[in-house]
Amino acid sequence: MTALLDIAGLSVNFPVAGGLFDTLIPGRKRYIDILDGISLSLKSGETLGLVGESGSGKTTLARSILGLSPISAGTITFNGAELRSRQSFTNMRRSSAMMFQDPVASLSPRMSVGALLTEPFIIHGVVMQNRKVKAEELLSRVGLSKDMANRYPHELSGGQARRVGVARALALHPKLIIADEPTTGLDVSVQGEILNLMTELKTLMGLSYMIITHNLAMVRHVSDRIAVMYLGRLIEVGPTREVFKKPLHPYAKSLIASEPQPDPRKRRADLAIKGEIPSVLNRPRGCEFHTRCSIAQDRCRSEAPQLRAIGIDRIVRCHFA
Ligand code: SF4
Repeated sequence: MTALLDIAGLSVNFPVAGGLFDTLIPGRKRYIDILDGISLSLKSGETLGLVGESGSGKTTLARSILGLSPISAGTITFNGAELRSRQSFTNMRRSSAMMFQDPVASLSPRMSVGALLTEPFIIHGVVMQNRKVKAEELLSRVGLSKDMANRYPHELSGGQARRVGVARALALHPKLIIADEPTTGLDVSVQGEILNLMTELKTLMGLSYMIITHNLAMVRHVSDRIAVMYLGRLIEVGPTREVFKKPLHPYAKSLIASEPQPDPRKRRADLAIKGEIPSVLNRPRGCEFHTRCSIAQDRCRSEAPQLRAIGIDRIVRCHFA
């Protein structure tokens, strides 16, 4: 498989209001790093699960890929072309789509489902022969009946709204779909239906997915690889099966141990993540996870670990992994 998306050394930072000292020196600005040195690739036909707590930078990464968040450093290459100009990101968004966490809230309440499904053609200036036929075709692709085209977002159930979200994402035959919490708020059985639909479409249309989620059970089920983020940095990446079988980073171990278990005796209280994720405004020195790590040592408090390769397809950021 060739790389569809290649991210190299991607950083995003924003200026923040400084203290008195900063205001006394003209031109002096403080920046906070939201993302720092992310290097990650996604192959054609691959599903990558991006996990981590709120505040880990997952959504900023997705927004940067789509050109919706300004990049401070690094490169993004999509389908062999580096994205530099505004036009290149516009072209990229024509070959990719975002599935939102709350599809009803992300859709205009005044537009019918039929109009919403064909709106991407209008946004990107793509000619379509017959709007009604196109909407019906997209509905049938996601297992919804034609008469759904006349409904409005508030008239849809949670599962129907997700299917409409998938259909809209498929409208322009994308190569990449970035799905933000695609099953949040759905019943378990409907979650399964949506995941099965996404998997079927992946095979049928050769799609690649980047799935942003807190739901580890879902990632385990659908992802080929998993990338774990903490405070805007990657801390572990590897094939899903291997990472779940033997997580290397203490944070990844804790996340996986926190997965709900049918058998309460299998829960590992000793691996539970302690405390809150620190603010990016006040990053801990050394290893940024040391304030919550149960095996932290003196070295961890003073020396930041670098990402290093373990075997051919895993990377981890820990002195002792
Ligand atoms: Fe824990 Fe130290 Fe590894 Fe950081 S470097 S994850 S503090 S053991």
